[in-house]
Amino acid sequence: MVGMHGNEENSAALKEDIRRWGRELGFDAIGFSGTRLDGAEQTLDAWLAAGFHGEMDYMAAHVTPAGNKRALPTELVPGTRSIITARINYRPAIRSGEESVLGSTALLRRGFISADFFENLADEERAYISRYALGRDYHKLLRARLQKLADRITGEVGEFAYRVFTDSAPVMEVGLAQNSGLGWRGKHTLLLDRDAGSYFFLGEIFTDLALAPDTPVTDHCGTCAACIDACPTEAIVAPYRLDARLCISYLTIELKGSIPEPLRSLLGNRIYGCDDCQLACPWNRFAPLTREGDFAPRHGLDQARLVELFAWEENDFNEKLAGSPIRRIGYERWLRNIAVALGNAPNSDETISALRSRADHSSALVRKHVAWALARHTAD
Ligand code: SF4
Repeated sequence: MVGMHGNEENSAALKEDIRRWGRELGFDAIGFSGTRLDGAEQTLDAWLAAGFHGEMDYMAAHVTPAGNKRALPTELVPGTRSIITARINYRPAIRSGEESVLGSTALLRRGFISADFFENLADEERAYISRYALGRDYHKLLRARLQKLADRITGEVGEFAYRVFTDSAPVMEVGLAQNSGLGWRGKHTLLLDRDAGSYFFLGEIFTDLALAPDTPVTDHCGTCAACIDACPTEAIVAPYRLDARLCISYLTIELKGSIPEPLRSLLGNRIYGCDDCQLACPWNRFAPLTREGDFAPRHGLDQARLVELFAWEENDFNEKLAGSPIRRIGYERWLRNIAVALGNAPNSDETISALRSRADHSSALVRKHVAWALARHTAD
């Protein structure tokens, strides 16, 4: 029963069992933390007060008289005593390209990362999609695995109270993972591990079990500022401080309306998310590849040409991207993003003709971005 794990020795034994079950279930690492997120609420408040969250109003929601639930796990799930954080790597194997194509890429020149990650980024006629989004949506897989882990724990200790989270509730997952020893928060604000880099998903089990917290690791960013220098839109306004309104992930995924004009040319060919800060990070040079078939690129998204994707009709978008995280932005934003990328692509008859085919699209948002892109090409 729960009580039998209340002492330190039993807690340590149960933790080792949970780590082993986690490995057996396909997790790459498991860590344990308490419920305190010291300083998190002040940091979150300052970030919100600066307006860095943009249209992501959900970041400011969930405030109770006790404070923001995001920073207070026991407000989110009363009775929580320990939090189990699980990590699963997503870095997919990407088909490698011609070294010569990549020669002009500044980050590659600096020798930070392997060529395979840069193939699409360097080819402006091809779409760049964030590495985490090339395969199936991770939420279901991660949630099912966490549930299985909870079931294994129940089999050992009997019924206990728990809730499973996979980016599904106001949970400060990086802070919790940091407290559980799974890594440190890099200057790009993502969790970073010496062996695993930052290409991984996180999920949590909030539990009423008393499990001793693991020891947090120290920050190994040192004097490095590669991610800050690499960000195309200078969204990392200071170490550990991200203005989401400038972040390409926000602009291409979260933002519903128009992409601010001064930022459009900086998006390059990134049509869904951006990995530049992670690509630049030296700790990602040897980040392990995922063991999950579900995260392998689907529908050739790691090689897709912009004009091909722009030609998809709405039913193509819905069918081909069923089960993909990309589908959540909807067809209109998909076309908006590709229109911007085509505006940044080399001038060619094919590009102009693709843009013209959408110039009278029923969506004003799409028309507006297509007009901007066409103006760039016709002004050349
Ligand atoms: S690029 Fe450098 S500063 Fe940025 S997260 Fe990686 S190690 Fe830290």
